[in-house]
Amino acid sequence: YDDRDGVIWFDGAMVPWREAKVHVLTHALHYASSVFEGERAYGGVIFRGHEHSLRLLSSAAAMDIPSPYTAEEIDEAKATALRASGLEDCYVRAFMWRGSGPDMGVAAARNPVHMAVAVWAWGAYYGDAKMKGAKLDISKWKRPSPETIPSHAKAAGLYMICTMSKHAAEAKGCSDALMMDYRGYVAEATGANVFFVKDNVVHTPLPDCFLNGLTRQTVVDLLKKRGVEVVERHIMPDELESFEQCWLTGTAAEVTPVGQIGEYTFEVGALTRAIAEDYEKLVRGNR
Ligand code: PMP
Repeated sequence: YDDRDGVIWFDGAMVPWREAKVHVLTHALHYASSVFEGERAYGGVIFRGHEHSLRLLSSAAAMDIPSPYTAEEIDEAKATALRASGLEDCYVRAFMWRGSGPDMGVAAARNPVHMAVAVWAWGAYYGDAKMKGAKLDISKWKRPSPETIPSHAKAAGLYMICTMSKHAAEAKGCSDALMMDYRGYVAEATGANVFFVKDNVVHTPLPDCFLNGLTRQTVVDLLKKRGVEVVERHIMPDELESFEQCWLTGTAAEVTPVGQIGEYTFEVGALTRAIAEDYEKLVRGNR
């Protein structure tokens, strides 16, 4: 994937794709001192782009990574990278990390902080599950407590449990895994938030130890606009049996129906389809 044409915004310069490299002694590579964003552009406009820039800054602050850039400068970097890509409908990855420098131990206050923005085409995150309903495994890994790590941040270090969970799920023929949190409540999938429907009421986990996704917030607003009751609360895994519909939300995943989690099955119902359409209309209308 690194051997291709294109350019990447890298510390303020447009660098040929093949040459956008870091040193092996990059602090982030050893200690996960890295934060990132996942964004989508529709018709050449990044959906909620400025909020993603603000979230990148808040993740960086939470991880003690001083940003060399303001939110406006990050917006500008993303706009430059997007224009240079020539793409209209695409994925935008902005990220910030501690580089190599005088400190190679755990502490790295003197090491410079870098930023890059890469843009590429990315179709449906769950492939044809988008229509049929994704099949999810239940992960053995738990989302950590906010007293263990700033668990609401979009930080590289938090993603290792996601990668391990997703690998285990894929090995079982599933598209993704549902993770519980440190207390045993239902939390989220490995790169998307989760919603359930029962008796026309929507239930979604309270985001108190995982990312409160921008798509999640958008979908909560869209549901309320439809007059649907949304309950944000702690959900126990044994409640999964009682839900009729389920979907995932995320920038990459957009609104993806879920057909199965472990032994429990869900229908791709009318509300799931309606909210997926509402979301599609909103992001496309954004241009
Ligand atoms: N949870 C995790 C772990 C994620 O990686 C993502 C994707 N960024 C989400 C939730 C959804 O967040 P958003 O809707 O802001 O993309």
